Amino acid sequence: MGSSAVIVGGGIGGLAAALGLRRIGWEVTVVERAPVLGDAGAGISLGANGVRALDELGVGEALRAASRFQYTGGTRTPDGRWLARMDGAALERELGTPIVGIPRSTLHGILRAALPPGALVTGAEVTEVDRSDPSGARVRWGDEERTADVVVAADGVGSRLRRALFPSHPGPAYSGSTVLRAITERPLDLRTDFELTWGRGAEFGHIAFADGRAEWHAVLNAPLGLRPADPLGALRRRFGDWHAPIPELLAATRPEDVLHHDIHELATPLPSFVAGRVAVLGDAAHAMTPFLGQGACQALEDAVTLAAALAAEPSVASGLARYDAERRPRSQAVARAARQAGRMGPRLDRPLAITLRNTAFRLAPSGMAVQAVLRHARWTPPRLG
Ligand SMILES: Cc1cc2nc3c(=O)[nH]c(=O)nc-3n(C[C@H](O)[C@H](O)[C@H](O)COP(=O)(O)OP(=O)(O)OC[C@H]3O[C@@H](n4cnc5c(N)ncnc54)[C@H](O)[C@@H]3O)c2cc1C
Repeated sequence: MGSSAVIVGGGIGGLAAALGLRRIGWEVTVVERAPVLGDAGAGISLGANGVRALDELGVGEALRAASRFQYTGGTRTPDGRWLARMDGAALERELGTPIVGIPRSTLHGILRAALPPGALVTGAEVTEVDRSDPSGARVRWGDEERTADVVVAADGVGSRLRRALFPSHPGPAYSGSTVLRAITERPLDLRTDFELTWGRGAEFGHIAFADGRAEWHAVLNAPLGLRPADPLGALRRRFGDWHAPIPELLAATRPEDVLHHDIHELATPLPSFVAGRVAVLGDAAHAMTPFLGQGACQALEDAVTLAAALAAEPSVASGLARYDAERRPRSQAVARAARQAGRMGPRLDRPLAITLRNTAFRLAPSGMAVQAVLRHARWTPPRLG
């Protein structure tokens, strides 16, 4: 009999892990507690490392066909001056693949479509993983029970499995930033593919999609749990005098489409991504702040690396040990860099510090912004199959 895995969580990480394990010939079941999958949420941009991982998982072509390549844009100040321009075409030449922008629901759909019917069980919450049997891990959801060679805990930042496996780990912490975001109701005539604008303790950004609509996000320093009664109204007041197209993006949005989340991260790194036959993956393993746009990319790297390690090593134990060794240092370094990027970017709120930062950005050689992106995006996936 072949090897099998149960994957807990049908987010980007869980679905990608399922595709990776199927490519090495494993039988997979993805168990997702939500009754309907991935249809909410705004947009996402994927750097070359994420795109390359999806190439290795066999869905790169579908991804590119549904994406808008992110060629033009950069970072600005609220009055519209540029701090750094990003040349996406230069990055593409350097890395061999573009940065892409895509609605999350479209990306989920692409990943789901590549799985065989029946591989994804929805509306099913995993309540327990039993590791007492060394020959297989037992997972329970509802009245179902399944024993598998490997269980993948891809259950997100609030991971129940991580809590059970690492009871002394403090879990996720509030980052101090809250984010409101949405996809515009209609296409807009945007002059750039992506932008970030840094104000005092605030960031506004957009990612344009292939159909002309765009996702925007507003990140604000805020106490945990603060919820304005009229979020879109509050944003229109806060960002109304920022440069075009920020007011236009807000004007093209329906109030009911605005999502609001407080950003949590695993500020204390996990001591291992493996416990017995359970591999922790994606946000469950290394939830990070979104300031480098690398969270999902790291989950995709995890997925390919896990499959490659299990295929290459003679035993499940050595495959999982290799996964931990290859993924933990890199993903935790990216998480640290994301936190640092937030400190220098949207979280900065003292006017003098902002002036110094902006001056440093303007004086920096033009290639520096590109180098900063390359540092994280330069990753070559191991080959599967
Ligand atoms: C504002 C913002 C912007 C971002 N932008 C980017 C970006 O541009 N680029 C990028 O690469 N990353 C970005 N990220 C990060 C990215 O969204 C995440 O890293 C990624 O979605 C994590 O995927 P995941 O599958 O690990 O977790 P999740 O997407 O959280 O999926 C976990 C799944 O597990 C399910 N689940 C939980 N518990 C159980 C259980 N007990 N049983 C069954 N199912 C369960 C949940 O319902 C959920 O579907 C951003 C994040 C934020 C907050």
